[in-house]
Amino acid sequence: MTDKPTAAGGRSPGRPARPADGRAVAAALFVDLGESRGDQWIRQPRARYECLRCRTAEGPVHGQAAVANFTRSIKAEHHSRCTAIQEHSS
Ligand SMILES: [Zn+2]
Repeated sequence: MTDKPTAAGGRSPGRPARPADGRAVAAALFVDLGESRGDQWIRQPRARYECLRCRTAEGPVHGQAAVANFTRSIKAEHHSRCTAIQEHSS
């Protein structure tokens, strides 16, 4: 019997642990999936993107299509106009 520490751990999969290499969180995407009953929205989905580099918030956007589009493109979109990134990568 070897007495090595467990590599598997007890963490739930699919939830990234905090980066161990010292990288800071640069941005956060908040998505509220909303609440629907049948085809009626009780609470519209919404999404918001916060860049911690330039301290800018994008959105929020409301509605299923807008949220889907937002979550798909906002990262690249903001990246292209993020003042903090522009300063470091010119
Ligand atoms: Zn930014």
